[in-house]
Amino acid sequence: MTSSPQNQPSLHSPQLSIVIPAFNEQGNLRQLYAALEPVLSATLMTWEIIIADDGSRDGSWDEIVELHRQDRRIKGVRLSRNFGHQYALMAGLAHAQGEAVISMDADLQHPPAMISQLVEQWQQGYKIVHTRRTDPPDISRFKKWSSKLFYDIFSLLSGVPMESGMADFRLLDRQVLDEILRFREDGLFLRGIVQWVGYQSSTLTYRCQERFSGSSKYTVRKMISLAWTGITSFSVIPLRVGIYIGIVTSMLAFAEMAYAIFMRLFTTTAVPGWASGVAVVSFLFGILFILLGLIGEYVGRILIEVRSRPRFLVSEQVGITNETAP
Ligand code: UDP
Ligand code: MG
Repeated sequence: MTSSPQNQPSLHSPQLSIVIPAFNEQGNLRQLYAALEPVLSATLMTWEIIIADDGSRDGSWDEIVELHRQDRRIKGVRLSRNFGHQYALMAGLAHAQGEAVISMDADLQHPPAMISQLVEQWQQGYKIVHTRRTDPPDISRFKKWSSKLFYDIFSLLSGVPMESGMADFRLLDRQVLDEILRFREDGLFLRGIVQWVGYQSSTLTYRCQERFSGSSKYTVRKMISLAWTGITSFSVIPLRVGIYIGIVTSMLAFAEMAYAIFMRLFTTTAVPGWASGVAVVSFLFGILFILLGLIGEYVGRILIEVRSRPRFLVSEQVGITNETAP
């Protein structure tokens, strides 16, 4: 997405948009629609569902086209390959036309029944309605622990407070969404951005459901990559680690030196220690290379941002009427 005007809601625009990124979710889409349809109709608003197919290799896209044929309020955007959850979500958001836009996962882990509560909060005037999950008993200890650790570190480093269990299930008001669509950064971490923008917000909690069909599309590699993107796009504090280590080690080295000189001048024994000297030097070299790598990561991020390629490419779409989105 390079330069695009935001979606202008027209007279025919739906009032509520549901945006769903989907990667190999063929087994979930029909069930998801069946669960969403009654809930959405009960809100008495006009609505649309936008499914962003993130380069699925199963029949997800055909399923979306078929659903659109049955119900014109279902729309689809197909990305040209797998760009990742955050980009698929952004693609869907960029095509949404509602006055309120709710993003949720395709696997029914985010309960559709919550939508009425989200809308209620929005009608009370909140511009952002966050949700926080309370973990189901069967969630893996690793996921629970790693998620908590990440959010704690992230909040500490970035100064943007974020609680564990906040995923991309939330409602955004049109005004907030238009602001977020102006963010051009490549290292996209929507959870952080939504916290960063401020505005009046409220938080609802929900019980995370089990995945309806298929397995998690977030591999450990994708999780680590998202966490690293989140931290590096929000904080430069890791770059300062080198300064702190430098200060501490110089002070220690100075004390050691003073001690060695003192011993040589005022006693008959010089300080021994070839082995300990080599150990300390190798240890510090190790740290030095880690810091060098860290700086390299940030330089790489600068390159990616400066190049400013489109963040995702759309290869096909169904039901999208406006041509303004990227
Ligand atoms: N997803 C995506 N692209 C990806 C990975 C995931 O669009 O590369 C979608 C996926 O289809 C789902 C949502 O992102 O709708 C969350 O993924 P998942 O349920 O696998 O993550 P988990 O709930 O296990 O963290
Ligand atoms: Mg899931």
